[in-house]
Amino acid sequence: MSTLYLDNAATTKINKEVLDEMIKSLEDFGNTEAKYYCYAEMAKENVRKARNRISVSLGCNPDEVVFTSGATEANNLFIKGLAAANPTKKRIIISSIEHSSIRETCHYMSSQGYEIIEVPVDKTGAVDLHFLENSIDANTLFVSIILVNNETGTIQDLHAIDEICFKKKIILHTDATQAVGKVEINMNDYKSLRLLTYTAHKIYGPKGIGALIVRKDDGIKLKLVPLLHGGEQEEGYRAGTLSNELIVGFGKATEMIVANIKEDNEYLKLLENELISKLKNKFGDLIVINNDFSNRIPGLINLQFRGQNNMILLQKMSPVVAASTGSACSVSKPSHVLKAMGLKDEEISSSIRLSLSKYLTVEDLSAIDKL
Ligand code: PMP
Repeated sequence: MSTLYLDNAATTKINKEVLDEMIKSLEDFGNTEAKYYCYAEMAKENVRKARNRISVSLGCNPDEVVFTSGATEANNLFIKGLAAANPTKKRIIISSIEHSSIRETCHYMSSQGYEIIEVPVDKTGAVDLHFLENSIDANTLFVSIILVNNETGTIQDLHAIDEICFKKKIILHTDATQAVGKVEINMNDYKSLRLLTYTAHKIYGPKGIGALIVRKDDGIKLKLVPLLHGGEQEEGYRAGTLSNELIVGFGKATEMIVANIKEDNEYLKLLENELISKLKNKFGDLIVINNDFSNRIPGLINLQFRGQNNMILLQKMSPVVAASTGSACSVSKPSHVLKAMGLKDEEISSSIRLSLSKYLTVEDLSAIDKL
């Protein structure tokens, strides 16, 4: 297929080495919970290795990795799980630019009597730290702030947010789905960050597998009522037979992406400069870049095509370039992220997202000339 794929923030193509390890692990068909026989031991070993790879990559312990079906499930698990475990705390604090898996879950929680506070962002997409600090009260269940935004690539100052939460003795969660492999993360460097979400299919891994990292406090487990009741898997946080092969792919993809953050980011920056210059040559003043370049990951460009409707534009572009308006999980709604950053309705409805892969070449980008 010759269509240039620029929707890597929605999902990525699986890496060949990841796929090879997954295929090999399909032979190890045993159930990881079974005892004594070799088939179970082989499957257990695969899962143990994947947990270790993840724990080394993110600075947590192997027994703090809770495998889920993806980031959406991980976000549902911590939000509903914390709420059920702490029924007296009724205030939830999130940013105004969360992914729909946090936003819509919190919307549901508000229908259950929870007060949802959305911390505003400035025009660069950075959360208002004073507002955050002033919002935390004795009734607060947790704070959740997306580390890298999926529509604009804005990176939040998680250390500053962590300091505030630590001072206020509040649990901090971050959705790091777009951050893993782009931003260095060592969970041990944080004091209140007890929970982190990410998923394999954004880092050249398989779909259908993600994790909620649930940190222990001096070996004591965080109280979280599971979404799925049943077996004793995942320390009781998530029942059900583990998918050996998906976990293998997730572990390998995490190890590979985290090992190369610096080089990959430099390369993505180079590709991005090339893409922007091609777009400027072709469209001149018709395009306006929405990103703030001071604090963002490379490889994710959000831009307006003045006077064009983004859906019509994407459809017209689709034989040449595959892209999206923003989040694949909320295609039918105008972007709440761009709105929160202060863009006008007509600017939002003419904006699209182009997201790069580290496996693209500069030559691949010449497809832009055919637009
Ligand atoms: N959070 C963010 C920031 C995302 O970008 C996505 C994927 N669109 C998700 C959560 C949901 O991930 P998954 O597809 O694994 O459920």
